[in-house]
Amino acid sequence: MNILVINSGSSSIKFQLIQMPSETLVCSGLVERIGEKDGIINYITDSNNIKLTCPIKNHNVGLKRIVELLLDPEKGVIENTDDIGIVGHRVVHGGNSFSNTTLISEDVKQKIKEISALAPLHNPNNLEGIVVAEALFPNAKQAAIFDTAFFQTLPEKAKRYAIPNSLYTDHNIQVYGFHGTSHKYVTEKALQYLKLKTSKIITIHLGNGCSMTAVVNGKSVDHSLGFTPSNGLIMGTRSGDIDHAIVFYLVTVLGFDLDKVNTLLTKESGMLGLTGYNDLRDIQAQAEKGNKDCKLALAMNAYRIKKYIGAYVAAMNGIDAIVFTAGIGENSSVIRQLVCEDMDVFGIHLDAVKNNLRSSNIREINTTDSKTKVLVIPTNEELEIAKQAYELVH
Ligand code: AMP
Repeated sequence: MNILVINSGSSSIKFQLIQMPSETLVCSGLVERIGEKDGIINYITDSNNIKLTCPIKNHNVGLKRIVELLLDPEKGVIENTDDIGIVGHRVVHGGNSFSNTTLISEDVKQKIKEISALAPLHNPNNLEGIVVAEALFPNAKQAAIFDTAFFQTLPEKAKRYAIPNSLYTDHNIQVYGFHGTSHKYVTEKALQYLKLKTSKIITIHLGNGCSMTAVVNGKSVDHSLGFTPSNGLIMGTRSGDIDHAIVFYLVTVLGFDLDKVNTLLTKESGMLGLTGYNDLRDIQAQAEKGNKDCKLALAMNAYRIKKYIGAYVAAMNGIDAIVFTAGIGENSSVIRQLVCEDMDVFGIHLDAVKNNLRSSNIREINTTDSKTKVLVIPTNEELEIAKQAYELVH
């Protein structure tokens, strides 16, 4: 069965066509700069790597262009839109309404719309992708895969904030969590690899956004992102944990308005705010040349991760493995080394040689006598969406 995975963002649509159950990637691509004059379409198959530029007025036009490429007599991979069995949609926020992947109905669309207040930058675009796909693939099943679903198992003590109860009961202010598709995917891979009867692991997703999850027997029990994807670790442009009173200081003493505070904390902070660079590759290169800000930012980044490891080992009363994933987690031996050094108390011992090897497979980078395993597992959110969509209808 062909499953088209769609990740519809504010100005882009990422897509992959995956054959299930063989998990074969048939084609992938990205439509960018939707709404601007110079839209860009990337389309990759085994024999084609195409880049087109053309105006893409809206998501409807973007998805239509994707369908034209999929159906193209020369470059295409399907003959008919009915060759797509399921369209699997990434939906960022499922609130408390969705703990699992679900088939899309009018009721589901309505709920995704209602939850938009919790994810105004994401859910409306995800919904737009769904509506357009329903029209373009009228005979395919449409499935929604929620980034928040993996965190529905968080116990109340981990998901509540210590603010008046009514804000939780009447206004749903709580930890929701994000990157759930990635945390779930690498958790399953880790558990297959570890083959333990019971397990306590920590998954560390370090990409543009960063988060950590404590997972006991495959179920999340704590997570570092919160009500929004701002909490916790130091990210590319987001501060992660700060004293919230800084916000009031910025407003009342320094005269910021709230929009400016929001932009500062989500787009101008994190590694960018500390160093002037967002991409960790640049920061590592500058640190090597002796740039003090970059050295400190790397140290701060790793220190924050270490603190969360400590907290989660305490929360789980033990640890079998930590898992690094996503752009930084998979590729930065520097961050992995900084995180794992001086962690004897948790039985974490990194093998420096294995840490520096490169591979696109799951790999163990701890020393043979390390009590806690250290794994690098490439994430694959699109495949996880395809797997969940396939399981839903079989
Ligand atoms: P993601 O959001 O998972 O695509 O991760 C993107 C981030 O991964 C980039 O912004 C980089 O900071 C980081 N990254 C990608 N490749 C490398 C690399 N080889 N070394 C260090 N960081 C990397």
